[in-house]
Amino acid sequence: MSAAESRYQKLRQHLHYLRLEAAAEALPQELERARKGKLSHTAFLERLLAIEVSATEARRLAGRLRFASLPAPWTLQDFDFDAQPALDRKLVDELATLRFVEEAANVLLVGPPGVGKTMLAICLARQAVEAGYRVYYTSAAELAARCHRAALEGRWQTAMRFYCGPAVLVVDELGYLPMQAKAAAALFEVVQRRYLKGSIILTTNRGIASWGQIFDDPMIAAAMLDRLLHRSVVLQIEGESYRMRAHRATSEALRAAARR
Ligand code: ADP
Ligand code: MG
Repeated sequence: MSAAESRYQKLRQHLHYLRLEAAAEALPQELERARKGKLSHTAFLERLLAIEVSATEARRLAGRLRFASLPAPWTLQDFDFDAQPALDRKLVDELATLRFVEEAANVLLVGPPGVGKTMLAICLARQAVEAGYRVYYTSAAELAARCHRAALEGRWQTAMRFYCGPAVLVVDELGYLPMQAKAAAALFEVVQRRYLKGSIILTTNRGIASWGQIFDDPMIAAAMLDRLLHRSVVLQIEGESYRMRAHRATSEALRAAARR
């Protein structure tokens, strides 16, 4: 083996040892390119490491996406603003900058069923994942059930730490089911612990004035609202249900077809 060849083998070993697998794989072609293009050492090394950096970024993004458990792949590009003319688009654009995540502010999406609350929550969550934040999606019912199980199994603190970890926690569908005292206490503790530390994106079909009815305890409702609202953006989504629109379009198409 020539000296040059053994040095090449060593270089490959170094890359593997450092687990720079993408760089190791690209090495022959990048060496060839550097030779042909007479690249400087700096330019060659920069290119090789850029390849490793992209591979690492892609792997981390995939990991964050998996962890986030978003129930749908929607992004803001999929959101049809024309269908919801009452929605404050400027505010949504502002939220999409993710400044609220930096400020650990909350986003409350309030409105009747079918108007796109969950979709908007998922789109913002997705945006945060792509920007590098840790995000976790759960429904209010699931959060309550998981905390209940954790309490029975002596893992309450672990569950609390889990829900405090992500920079953005989506709590979907608060208010669809009435919350028992224990469930309300779990949600309250999550809200309390995240207060001023991490964002919550919460969706609910209940107007804020009627939150007392979601929880058995009006004191808990008031204390929770206090913390949620202190630093928050409230998006009221009125307008008609997007689902109903789709149903209506389908039934109109069926009717039209029947007339033919
Ligand atoms: P909510 O959570 O308010 O009940 P969803 O977010 O689940 O409503 O929306 C219901 C359905 O309608 C979903 O399939 C969603 O993708 C669709 N949808 C709602 N609003 C829009 C919108 N503005 N643009 C595109 N799809 C929408
Ligand atoms: Mg929903």
